[in-house]
Amino acid sequence: MAGPDSTRIRTNLESVQAAIEAAAVRAGRASQEVTLVAVSKTWPAEIVRLAVEAGQRVFGENKVQEGEAKAPLLPPHLDWHHIGNLQKNKVRKALAVFSTLHGVDSLDLARQIDRIAADEGLEPAVFLQVNLAREASKHGFTEDQLRQDFEALLGLDRLRIQGLMIIPPFKEDPGETRPMFAALRALRDELSGRFGVPLPGLSMGMSHDYPVAVEEGATLVRVGSAIFGSRG
Ligand SMILES: *Cc1c(COP(=O)(O)O)cnc(C)c1O
Repeated sequence: MAGPDSTRIRTNLESVQAAIEAAAVRAGRASQEVTLVAVSKTWPAEIVRLAVEAGQRVFGENKVQEGEAKAPLLPPHLDWHHIGNLQKNKVRKALAVFSTLHGVDSLDLARQIDRIAADEGLEPAVFLQVNLAREASKHGFTEDQLRQDFEALLGLDRLRIQGLMIIPPFKEDPGETRPMFAALRALRDELSGRFGVPLPGLSMGMSHDYPVAVEEGATLVRVGSAIFGSRG
């Protein structure tokens, strides 16, 4: 894989930041509320380094093993997020690399993370993944399951629950995803109100639709190909 050069990556990062800024302005939000997670999955450390040199600090990986291999090759000040499905038997390894887990999709997994975090003296930030469209192919709590499990989740005191995360069904027209982003925000507002806890985080939006997600309240966008190019 030849990969993009440093000018390309710098330019792409600048345009993504500009698009986040513009979307935030349209929505009357401050763009500093939005963290860009650069999704570096499949790209080797040399390529990720180009993004670091362009000022990017937060990176997302969906495979524990890949993050484990890549992180030590890069500067220690970076912040690594796990963005995908996490298997229970990989939790200990994941916690050694990632500060933040975006794909917490069941109470069982959350309990396992809590247990191991206690063991390791850690307090990971987590996002609860919601499968609003109830797609069989996707992970995540259904809305009802999340309402039912929420109290128990709040009892896991090692987890810093930031908020909710979604991977919506792909739509050619990103505007069609807007109702799903809005629904995730509404569910967040409902849980936050009902259980009296702040849930500031909404992890939503990818290369194809992050401006719409920012307009609908995203606090983290997970953007890969718009920065690094197509993964081929
Ligand atoms: C790969 C991936 C992304 C980034 O996708 P792009 O379309 O390349 O921006 C975001 N979130 C998750 C969970 C992913 O697996």
